[in-house]
Amino acid sequence: MTRARSALLAIVLVGGACSSSSPPASPTAVTQPPGPAGATPRVLMVTATAGFRHDSIPTARQVMAALAASGREFSITATEDLAALGADNLRSYDVVMFALTSGELPLGAAQKSALVDFVSSGHGFIGVHSATDTLYEWPDYGRLVGTYFKDHPWTQQGSVVVEDASHPASGGIGDRFSLLEEFYTFQENPRGRVQVLLRLDAASVGATGDYPLAWAQSFGAGRAYYNALGHFPATWMDPRFQRQLAGAITWTASR
Ligand SMILES: [Zn+2]
Repeated sequence: MTRARSALLAIVLVGGACSSSSPPASPTAVTQPPGPAGATPRVLMVTATAGFRHDSIPTARQVMAALAASGREFSITATEDLAALGADNLRSYDVVMFALTSGELPLGAAQKSALVDFVSSGHGFIGVHSATDTLYEWPDYGRLVGTYFKDHPWTQQGSVVVEDASHPASGGIGDRFSLLEEFYTFQENPRGRVQVLLRLDAASVGATGDYPLAWAQSFGAGRAYYNALGHFPATWMDPRFQRQLAGAITWTASR
């Protein structure tokens, strides 16, 4: 265990032990005070579900709040209230993060337009794990997240290959790493339309083929990023995963 991971674990555990007096780690209200526009990226983290609900959602919220509090590189507001995706409220944010969302979230036409306009006008979008198992009936969302979930044939230890160690969202974690995950496959391989940052080492799960696991793309004047990992709480506690998400926030918040 690295020193950084030990420090984060301590933060998360302390937060969990006294959630009523520690807003950053509360499972229901995770809000950091937004910084001035143009300074620290302000992230709206949405964990609403209309389909499968991952047990890792509380850990995901605690970890992202702890990362924001410890590194001060971004602020985060976590919510399951889809009204937060209105155009007026989005003006308070630089990045919208769909973390472990699922199903046909009941977004109205105005909210859908607001999210597309938000990103295409120069802001950021981040999708994590089942963000690709979300909003299948909204094609613009499919373009934003990159493609849709197809199946999860391998829930086991597997090796992940880092394709671009120079990208902020995949740098500093070596050229490959191994972890226990629920590895996704997708309806279409997005390679060619996006920049693939991570792919599954197919041989490590006894398979063959090309299985991208994280990618980045431009979306109008904005930037979009997706990472298929994050099924288990342990993945969110993993400093290599945290480094990718923090880098993705920095990257998607840039113009
Ligand atoms: Zn999952």
